[in-house]
Amino acid sequence: MTDVIDGNAVAAEIREGVAGCVDVLAGEGVYPGLATVLMSDDPASETYVSMKQRDCEEVGIDGIHVEVDSDAPASELYGTIDGLNDDDAVSGVLVQLPLPDHVDEREVVRRIDPAKDVDAFHPENVGRLVAGDSRFKPCTPHGIQRLLAAAAVDPEGKEAVVVGRSDIVGKPIANLLFGRGEGGNATTTVCHSRTADLAEHTRRADVVVAAAGVPEFITGDMLTAGTVVVDVGINRVERDGESTLVGDVEYDSAAEKASAITPVPGGVGPMTRAMLLYNTVKAAGLEAGVDVPLP
Ligand code: NAD
Repeated sequence: MTDVIDGNAVAAEIREGVAGCVDVLAGEGVYPGLATVLMSDDPASETYVSMKQRDCEEVGIDGIHVEVDSDAPASELYGTIDGLNDDDAVSGVLVQLPLPDHVDEREVVRRIDPAKDVDAFHPENVGRLVAGDSRFKPCTPHGIQRLLAAAAVDPEGKEAVVVGRSDIVGKPIANLLFGRGEGGNATTTVCHSRTADLAEHTRRADVVVAAAGVPEFITGDMLTAGTVVVDVGINRVERDGESTLVGDVEYDSAAEKASAITPVPGGVGPMTRAMLLYNTVKAAGLEAGVDVPLP
């Protein structure tokens, strides 16, 4: 029997725990706020930001939304970030990526106060993660770690293979998987677009994390029976004249081999959103010196 890991259910539990943290903070007169900044006309980015705002509302986090015209000079975005960094009502600042070409994404990431960097993309937070002393774990990798825990998969001593080496998924999940502590201690291999024989690696894995952004390219024949498969990919494709979402894993053939697998949608995606709320209450608690019962 393949265990289908239900990201919606695990994310709902995390949100409930976050709502409890909001209550504890309110008891101390602290009201966490998440600022989302959108500088894009891309409908997908607009949707992501409005979902994040809706999530905040559901758990009692104040949502603050700022839009910067996509044609505006980069300095306008920098000024917006500086203002949010200085605003006591803002616990976390999230700038929705991607940004227009004339804006230097690295500069934007560096500009956010590391104590409000709930995406955990600032070099200080990346460095702390790598050093095993994280303030915030980045949302998608942290969500993956929680999904594995919820499915009673302990990576310790196992062979984990991460497919993809991006800054937001591949590199940080590899760090979490091989790092010390709960949900870590795996022997971890990172594969990428220049890996010579990808299947040779995935076939010896106990846990495969697929984050390459290539629709359905991890197939059942690339897996050994019993492997745990985490599909991070979100790819919009045309099927029978209709637009649909698929992961980086060919679900049907992979599910035949896997002992546990995350679906797309309903796997990693909802966890990414839940861990953003988690980081926001964590940021508010750290700033105010209030111990919050993080879920
Ligand atoms: P990215 O494009 O930044 O990085 C992709 C990585 O995959 C690169 O490091 C590249 O070397 C590697 N790669 C590409 N083709 C490959 C191949 N044929 N074989 C081996 N490696 C290959 O992507 P990303 O930002 O890491 O996102 C990856 C996927 O995850 C995308 O589909 C994205 O939409 C999705 N995503 C989902 C969530 C979520 O919440 N579920 C969050 C972030 C990203």
